[in-house]
Amino acid sequence: TATTAASAHDVPTGILVAGEWRPATGGSTFEVVDPATTELVAQVADGTGEDGLAALTAAHDAAPAWAAVAPRERSELLRACFESIVDRTEELAALITAEGGKPLAESRAEVAYGAEFFRWFAEEAVRAPGLSRTAPAGANRQLVHRRPVGPALLITPWNFPIAMATRKIGPALAAGCPVVIKPAQLTPLTTMAVAEILRAELAARDLPTGVVNVVPTSSAKTVTGPVIGDGRLRKLSFTGSTGVGQVLLGQAADQVLNCSMELGGNAPFVVFADADLDAAVDGAMVAKLRNGGQSCVGANRFLVHRSLASRFAERLAARFAELSVGPGAEGHDVGPLISAAAVDKVDELVTDATDRGARVLAGGSRPEGKGYFYSPTVLADAPADARCVTEEIFGPVAPVVAFDDVDEAFVLANGTQYGLAAYAYTRDVDLAMRAAHEIDAGMIGINRGMVSDASAPFGGVKQSGLGREGGAAGLEEYLETLYVAM
Ligand code: ADP
Repeated sequence: TATTAASAHDVPTGILVAGEWRPATGGSTFEVVDPATTELVAQVADGTGEDGLAALTAAHDAAPAWAAVAPRERSELLRACFESIVDRTEELAALITAEGGKPLAESRAEVAYGAEFFRWFAEEAVRAPGLSRTAPAGANRQLVHRRPVGPALLITPWNFPIAMATRKIGPALAAGCPVVIKPAQLTPLTTMAVAEILRAELAARDLPTGVVNVVPTSSAKTVTGPVIGDGRLRKLSFTGSTGVGQVLLGQAADQVLNCSMELGGNAPFVVFADADLDAAVDGAMVAKLRNGGQSCVGANRFLVHRSLASRFAERLAARFAELSVGPGAEGHDVGPLISAAAVDKVDELVTDATDRGARVLAGGSRPEGKGYFYSPTVLADAPADARCVTEEIFGPVAPVVAFDDVDEAFVLANGTQYGLAAYAYTRDVDLAMRAAHEIDAGMIGINRGMVSDASAPFGGVKQSGLGREGGAAGLEEYLETLYVAM
């Protein structure tokens, strides 16, 4: 059956191949644990390389039929799944909180955001671009068609288990590509619940169910290695750390695989001298604390003009100190980090910063008791070479670094191999546009602490990735170009 007694939530815990949920080859399972309580949420099938290849076979077999389904029908499937996800908001939000820890209110927001990718790509599915024209020399005509690239492997991270999945599945299905999804080991259940919604809707419409396959596993590379090495795979879309992205790009080179990569970030949040300080503090709360700081677009470093730096740090610290920290299911403001290792890393970065002279204005410790919690922390006078400034923190820690002039701010902002998101606060429109052009980032929020939107192109420059998800660009990632000269 789709559901086992091991799960308190009514979700599948098996592997989905060719429209059937089944156990892993060999029958192994792994545990999914609630980071707020360290208690078991579910036992999930532990996929193998054989399971990965079976999923690829199903996707490959479904590819011609799926590419032949009318764009309108693909669109309507996605639209129906959008409605279904929205109808099940409470159930899915509870699941996100159980396996990932984020506060319920944030989980509900993630369900809305995640569903939006299906609505958006339902709308984009019928708008694949094309061209017909006379060649400049006048001798012939040129037709340009866009075609589905083919079976796609989607590897997703644990921090936004619905949105990271729908952001890839939506455009892949809209474009006509079947998928194999390898969800994160720590949070596979939400993705599997979404896959079940898709499976049921495909079956109800008599569409090929092998279009959506899911292989959870505790050993990612055991599943992904053979799939990436197989010539039937035509697309790899990955969201995760830069280190793993580099390994995957290396593997993808052998088959010259089409790759989209959403990798790490180290977003600067720049507050210029003329900024509205209240607005900047409000924006910082969102940019830093979404999912407890565990977001690749989360503000990592706060670069604040020296004239505002201590006031900004003090106000932010006062706001942080008011937040309640505890299990996301109990209505707290800030939930747990994903794992014990994540808490250790955050603690290490805070100790490194204080050893180098930073001052703790709020937080700076692990609360007593069970669960993987860390107090929201503000570090004033953080030196620019502190590890929490140079590395991705992925936790609720806000280092504040003072700068003296605009050029110094840009140099500091760009002093990283990353270039995903950035934020800038200023009331000067010229300075805002300068920041947008001079800061190396794929996305910049101007007087806004949040950039994510299904209708906008999400992605990074430098070692933050390749390609864009969302917007019209998101569909293009799953299309290739056919040019006919006639
Ligand atoms: P995070 O730090 O967000 O966990 P990772 O890059 O470790 O980022 O993980 C993102 C996704 O990549 C997860 O689904 C994880 O299981 C998968 N992953 C991790 N290592 C590998 C690997 N060597 N090959 C393929 N996938 C991997």
